[in-house]
Amino acid sequence: MVNTVAIIGAGLGGLSVAQALRKQGINAQVYEKACLLRPVGAGLSLVPNGLHSLEAITPGITELLKAAGSQTQKLTLHKSNGELIGQKSVTLQEKYGQPMLQIRWSCLQEILASQLPSEAIHLDHRCIGFQQNQKEVQVCFESGKTVQADVLIGADGLNSVVRQILIGDGDPDYAGRMSWRAVLKYSHPKLLPHEVMSMTASDGKIFGFFDLGSGYVFWSGAALCPEGNIAETAAEVKSRIQHQFSGWAEPVQEILAATNVENIVERPICDRPPLENWSQGRVTLLGDAAHPMVPLLGQGANTAFEDAWELAQCLRHASSIETALANYENSRKPRTQIIQIRNAVGAKRAYKADSETYLAKMMQQTQLSDAEFEEWLYNYKPSLVNYS
Ligand SMILES: Cc1cc2nc3c(=O)[nH]c(=O)nc-3n(C[C@H](O)[C@H](O)[C@H](O)COP(=O)(O)OP(=O)(O)OC[C@H]3O[C@@H](n4cnc5c(N)ncnc54)[C@H](O)[C@@H]3O)c2cc1C
Repeated sequence: MVNTVAIIGAGLGGLSVAQALRKQGINAQVYEKACLLRPVGAGLSLVPNGLHSLEAITPGITELLKAAGSQTQKLTLHKSNGELIGQKSVTLQEKYGQPMLQIRWSCLQEILASQLPSEAIHLDHRCIGFQQNQKEVQVCFESGKTVQADVLIGADGLNSVVRQILIGDGDPDYAGRMSWRAVLKYSHPKLLPHEVMSMTASDGKIFGFFDLGSGYVFWSGAALCPEGNIAETAAEVKSRIQHQFSGWAEPVQEILAATNVENIVERPICDRPPLENWSQGRVTLLGDAAHPMVPLLGQGANTAFEDAWELAQCLRHASSIETALANYENSRKPRTQIIQIRNAVGAKRAYKADSETYLAKMMQQTQLSDAEFEEWLYNYKPSLVNYS
């Protein structure tokens, strides 16, 4: 029924859904605007729901990921002056069968890309539009090239072009926080292997250090800022973050001083409110294009992996493309909305109160304890979902 699928975006969502579809015998082709899959200066937390999904797509992949990253065993929280506020052991592996894994973004992307034949990834292909009819969807690229497919998946991230054509809801919302991050080879007596150390201050600033294994550390800082404008030069970015975190205890000053200016990524944190629908005809969305969220719970990529597994199962099992995409959306929307809302509650985001259902769900989430939410989140088992 479905022979060819065009996927826009070779991010974590696009690569994983391509692999999930190809495992079902579907010819999935990925189109990416970048000319190179360049390393992004970041690390990522993978947790049981995301890891179980990746393992369902590619049995054995989590062993490769574990070898490339670092399993977190302890979380510590400190004041900005270094004083310890609290600490806890991470027991996700024992409770949910997968660990909390910190990994370099570039390693993860490389491992996902290496599962696909190189001819299935088309770099330097910026999608600018599509048209669909009852037989096919035609995708248009900036170069003037077009391709035909049975299904189009927009996995093109927060500023998705596919979403703009499908939904047309404009730019994402700035969530009032700027973030800065970098990955470097670094050691410091206060940064221990298998540990994530966070520091916080009463003005809403946070700074985290994540051991990524193999001597790499990922640091990430965020601060409330009324404007979400990006600095013009790399040197300005570095002086901004040094200014934001001046006076914070070590190892903040030392790691900032040791980080090459060119490696620091500055980004405004953005999201969008949950969508009512994200598929039409032969076209659907996945990952950040469908349900972007502030990175409070570290679930953006993890939920994209869930999407990837479920969409491939729906396309395999349903009687028609429209039924498959409806099944996918009906399965994914309730879960991702809860996670978007939980993020919004935690980050004190106020969306336009546009529906009673949304407000009711928001109320429910404020009443659910962190432990209850964690159990629901991490107990996700891809193989138990009904896709037909
Ligand atoms: C500071 C920060 C920390 C985070 N930490 C975590 C974490 O610990 N755990 C977690 O699960 N998530 C985390 N996230 C979220 C996570 O990074 C995203 O949710 C995830 O990368 C989304 O994947 P995606 O494939 O949907 O989109 P993206 O990763 O954005 O990929 C989209 C791809 O589409 C391409 N593209 C865009 N437009 C076009 C076009 N027109 N034509 C062709 N290609 C196009 C882009 O170049 C890109 O390669 C974090 C996010 C931030 C900002």
